[in-house]
Amino acid sequence: MTILFVVLGLVFGSFGSVLVTRIPGGKTIVGRSGCPHCHKTLTPLELIPVISYLFLRGRCKECKVPIGWMYPTIEILSALLFLAAWQLHGEPITAALLGLVLWLLLIIGFIDAYTQTISDLLNIPLLVLAVLYSMLLGQFEIGGIVLGVAFFGAQWLLSRGKCLGSGDIILAAGIGALVGSWERMVACLFLVYVIGALIASTLLLTGRVKRGQYIAFAPFMAIGAIATVFFQSRIDQFIALYIGI
Ligand SMILES: [Zn+2]
Repeated sequence: MTILFVVLGLVFGSFGSVLVTRIPGGKTIVGRSGCPHCHKTLTPLELIPVISYLFLRGRCKECKVPIGWMYPTIEILSALLFLAAWQLHGEPITAALLGLVLWLLLIIGFIDAYTQTISDLLNIPLLVLAVLYSMLLGQFEIGGIVLGVAFFGAQWLLSRGKCLGSGDIILAAGIGALVGSWERMVACLFLVYVIGALIASTLLLTGRVKRGQYIAFAPFMAIGAIATVFFQSRIDQFIALYIGI
C-alpha cells in the first residue's frame, strides 16, 4: 500500500506538472507532452516521473535544452504528500481523498507562484473533494468555510478586488472545508500569515522580489493548510487548552 501511494503520488505529480505548464496558458490538458523548445513529443520512457529526468540528466534528448527543475520537484512533493496522507489515515479511501486534496493545493500553489492566477478548474474540485473528505472523517463543519470566505471576502471587498482575487476566496472555502471547525481555521490562517511573513521577508532580504512587487498568496495558503492537516491533533490540544471546548 505504501508503494502504491508513492506511485500514485508520482503519477499525479507528473500530471500536475503538465497542469502547471498548460492551465495558465489556456492550453488543452489532453494530448501528449512535448519539449516546449523543440516540440519533440516525449516517448513513453521519457514520461516516467523523476526517473526519466535523472536518466536524461535534466535535458531534452533532442535539443539538449534543460528541462525545468520544477517537473521533478512537483513529482517528488506530490509523492511525499500522498505518502503522508497514507501514513496519517492508513485507510485507502480517506487517504486517497486527502492525497488528492493536498495534490490540488500543491498545483494551485505552484500556478499562483509562477503566474499570479488561481484557476477555478482546480479550486472547485478542491472544495468538493475537501467536503467529501471531511464528511468521511465526520469532521465536516460549515464554520471553517464561513470563516475562510468571510476573512478573504472582507479583504476583497475592502480593497475592491485589488489586493486579492475571487480565486483566493474559493480557495479559502476549500481549505475551510478541509480543516473543519472555525477554531482550526483560525489556527490555519495564523500559520498562513506566519509562513507568509517568513517567506516574504526572506525573498525581500535576498532581493528575489522587490518592495511593492506582488507576491502570490496561494502558496502560503497551501503550506498553512497542509501544516494544519498534519499538526491537527496538536492544534486540537491547543484549542481545547486555551479556548476550552
Ligand atoms: Zn527539446
